[in-house]
Amino acid sequence: MTDKRLKYADQITLERIKVLHPAIRDKVREAYLNVNTHMLGKCVRLRLAYTTRSLEEQDALYAIGRTKLFDASGKRLGKVTNAKGGQSIHNYGLAWDIVLLLDTNGDGNFDTASWDTVADFDGDMVADWMEVVDAFKAIGAEWGGDWKFTDKPHFQMAFGMDWRAMQEKIHNGEFEIEEIDRIKYKWIKL
Ligand SMILES: [Zn+2]
Repeated sequence: MTDKRLKYADQITLERIKVLHPAIRDKVREAYLNVNTHMLGKCVRLRLAYTTRSLEEQDALYAIGRTKLFDASGKRLGKVTNAKGGQSIHNYGLAWDIVLLLDTNGDGNFDTASWDTVADFDGDMVADWMEVVDAFKAIGAEWGGDWKFTDKPHFQMAFGMDWRAMQEKIHNGEFEIEEIDRIKYKWIKL
């Protein structure tokens, strides 16, 4: 039997979930499919904008607004992160960031990104962003919107660790390697 939820699923998101840490991959996939199919209305979809980031990708983000000051068109760039490679939970495959995708004109294309955390696009009297927050909290995820310095698109399942504890595990060889689409990932042992 085919999973009807896949008909509404975002392929890019499913690909990104595949490279989350194996300990959380299936849970995040289930929560994603459920919220995307049943909690958001037909004009709203959920996308995971970022999941796992390599150390190189993290260092490249850290450079933006610091050593990389301009984009290709000459626009001045601001800082986007305070985390260097190894200092983000994303580097361990245990974090993901969300964005809502809207079909604003009903043509079936979800081509408008939204980070609006209070809008109720599906008209069910609950902000869509918070429906997603509830769905991920239900699987035990921590939401960046609850932090002192809020990061509302961010979710993580860190198993009581901070990035230092995770980095320590890598240094101590407490990890397993998994190859996905010819890229090798180091997953810390939990
Ligand atoms: Zn994040």
